Amino acid sequence: MDKLSPQQRHANMAAIHSKGTKPEMIVRRGLWKRGFRYRLNAPDLPGHPDLVLRKYRTCIFVNGCFWHGHNVALPQIDNGQWIIDNSECCKIPKTNRDFWVRKIRRNQARDIEQQHRLARLGWHCITVWECSLKPSIREQTLTSLAYTLNRIWLEDHAVQVSYPEAEEGVGTMLAAEEGEEYETEKTE
Ligand SMILES: [Zn+2]
Repeated sequence: MDKLSPQQRHANMAAIHSKGTKPEMIVRRGLWKRGFRYRLNAPDLPGHPDLVLRKYRTCIFVNGCFWHGHNVALPQIDNGQWIIDNSECCKIPKTNRDFWVRKIRRNQARDIEQQHRLARLGWHCITVWECSLKPSIREQTLTSLAYTLNRIWLEDHAVQVSYPEAEEGVGTMLAAEEGEEYETEKTE
């Protein structure tokens, strides 16, 4: 069944994890096609987000479900046993369990920490999970991502419309100035 040694598995998963891999490319192409422009792997930002859309003040992380522990609860060890609640897209290997749990817990904690740091710097953070990019739901995911970005932009640029009590003095003065200017132009 599981013929890989932990070392082989590690090497395999590390390769899948490397930058420029398929899930990230899907998001890049999907956003590009929809007219969004971005920077890649911003080295100056916490966590080096996969895509940075400055105009939208948004960082996008494209996360592998296994490495980042998508929907997996990994509580503290109990009586020498991990109590693991696996999810559909992230199943902790039965061999070398202790190593994997610690590793993925560490990644989860780091993800949260980095997103908090980005938020404090005024960035929105969006995580796109690998499982949401499988062919059957990919377009839907990308469309909703585009929708979210547009909504962020609109909220950031919303004009506070208010109607204060009319200040007659100011209004009258403005009207008078405009009138004067108009008449000056006419006499020339
Ligand atoms: Zn997932």
